[in-house]
Amino acid sequence: MRVHHLNCGSSCPRGRRLVNGDGGLLERGHSVCHCLAIETADGLVLVDTGFGLDDARDRGRLGVAFAAMNAEPKAETTALRQLEALGFAARDVRRIVTTHLDPDHSGGLPDFPDAEVHVLSAELDAALDPALRDRPRYPDVHWRHGPRWVRHEAEGDEWFGFESVRVLPGLDVEVLLIPLFGHSRGHSGVAVGTGDGWLLHCGDAYFNHGELANPPSCPPALRLFQTLLAADGKARRSNQERLRELASRHGDEVTLLCSHDPHELEREQAKAGAAAPTG
Ligand SMILES: [Zn+2]
Repeated sequence: MRVHHLNCGSSCPRGRRLVNGDGGLLERGHSVCHCLAIETADGLVLVDTGFGLDDARDRGRLGVAFAAMNAEPKAETTALRQLEALGFAARDVRRIVTTHLDPDHSGGLPDFPDAEVHVLSAELDAALDPALRDRPRYPDVHWRHGPRWVRHEAEGDEWFGFESVRVLPGLDVEVLLIPLFGHSRGHSGVAVGTGDGWLLHCGDAYFNHGELANPPSCPPALRLFQTLLAADGKARRSNQERLRELASRHGDEVTLLCSHDPHELEREQAKAGAAAPTG
């Protein structure tokens, strides 16, 4: 079973030290959008999409928050163009599983109009009929084409003490939505059974690998950003604590990663590269 770790959208905000925890204040920071493309017997499963082709053509559609973050959507870093470079076509992506529907996670939906899009009900409702304060966060540009939504309720089985919803039964790869509310109203993680353990894509439940350590640490700009963006701060902090516990108790079975940490992306790409067949 093969999982590709893709960066589908970089942002380069000012103040590297405040964003990445190293480098200078005047340097530009670096944030990625870590997406997964999982090869299965029945096509590809994409976990989050990053920015899409239309965002690269017109980044103004993403709104002021992404302009402030210096988001740099580019055609060549879209999931579609990267998958094409690996020899796949848009139609090979049969299913997309989203952690949530913020623009940097849903931007590629229009590039895969035939794919099923799996999402927790609470997130879909928040995005399609947003409360007043959520309207800037969910511009409708990424679902005007009418995605093939598949909604899931947040009750289900148990996975390492977390609630879990098995979203793709019948597939040769186990894919679960793990409700991790807080960052957004219906935010979730996505757990992928790799055959010799689990990957847990935590979306925006944390932003920096230091937040999983004990004691946790986080560069100040990222800490502020997460606090300001949280739909439910208490739930966000409590879920982050649960993830820290999971990492410390079951780190040998579960590899945690989040959307925006370049360090984790490099780590996973290096592992995948080392495991790939050569010659
Ligand atoms: Zn994000």
